[in-house]
Amino acid sequence: MRCLQDVFAATPFVVSFEIFPPKTEQGDESLFANLDRLAARSPAFISCTYGAGGSTRARTLELCRLIQTRWSQTATAHFTCVGSTRDELLEWLSQAHEAGIGNIMALRGDPPSGETTFQKVQGGLGYANELVALIREQFPEMGIGVAGYPEKHPEAESEQVDLANLKRKVDSGANAVFTQLFYVNDHYFRFRDRARGLGIEKPIVPGIMPITEFSRIQRIVSMCKTDFPNDLAAKLEAAQDDREAQFEIGVDYAVQQCQQLIDQGAPGIHFYVLNKSEACERILDGLQIPATS
Ligand SMILES: Cc1cc2nc3c(=O)[nH]c(=O)nc-3n(C[C@H](O)[C@H](O)[C@H](O)COP(=O)(O)OP(=O)(O)OC[C@H]3O[C@@H](n4cnc5c(N)ncnc54)[C@H](O)[C@@H]3O)c2cc1C
Repeated sequence: MRCLQDVFAATPFVVSFEIFPPKTEQGDESLFANLDRLAARSPAFISCTYGAGGSTRARTLELCRLIQTRWSQTATAHFTCVGSTRDELLEWLSQAHEAGIGNIMALRGDPPSGETTFQKVQGGLGYANELVALIREQFPEMGIGVAGYPEKHPEAESEQVDLANLKRKVDSGANAVFTQLFYVNDHYFRFRDRARGLGIEKPIVPGIMPITEFSRIQRIVSMCKTDFPNDLAAKLEAAQDDREAQFEIGVDYAVQQCQQLIDQGAPGIHFYVLNKSEACERILDGLQIPATS
């Protein structure tokens, strides 16, 4: 199992997949069948999200453990500051470490539903850079990923402030930045250039969510306040009664989007797979990816 720092040193183009813990047994079965297929693509790692409000504390660890034992893939556990004191954060990190999980996606997390601002618990942490610093101090060998926002984090007052905060995370010890999903590459290129201008030298990996069902993506895009191309929306609207057609439009778009990212030097792609493999498999088949040395 490799730590993020080794992954990027050894691989010219890093493909990773992100899954989330299902809420039902049926969801588990479906995820496991999809993990069989995703693992066959030999990703650099598979990450598992940490539920809002810490709702998947144990499940995230359990799935990461399974990713490493049953599928022999490197796992990355997402982890947030929400609802935990520093001691509780350390307890969870120790469990992850003991389970052989070598990578953490270190996040602040969102406010609980119904609340608009994030409140740190007494004795807890207020920002992801503090979590990165804690992990780096207590578990120096762990790989650490952090979140980046090509279209700015919704709470940040400006792009400049948001990038300065991203730099804090990298300076605190993060090994790589994984971006929020986006559909317009220019936002990524601009973000990457501005980050480099500030001295952020770590890999900035685009986060791509394939479109498989327009109504679902519309909800996510509106939640994340992500720019969505008008011509793509028009094509998907024209196919609103035909799921298969939407899937094909989504795959075609992602192949073009990812190929442009590859051609313009992106260090990898982090796919938000939504626990399904098919779209990603099709997209990977359509891409020319720099060969592994
Ligand atoms: C790749 C990726 C994976 C994710 N996985 C999960 C997950 O598994 N579970 C989950 O609940 N959420 C997840 N999220 C969502 C994330 O938790 C939210 O976007 C959250 O609102 C911000 O988290 P962050 O780590 O970016 O926070 P931070 O980096 O702490 O930033 C939050 C806000 O505070 C500002 N800020 C940061 N540091 C400081 C500082 N020191 N002083 C003042 N202001 C500061 C930033 O500009 C930003 O506006 C993920 C997001 C991404 C992009």
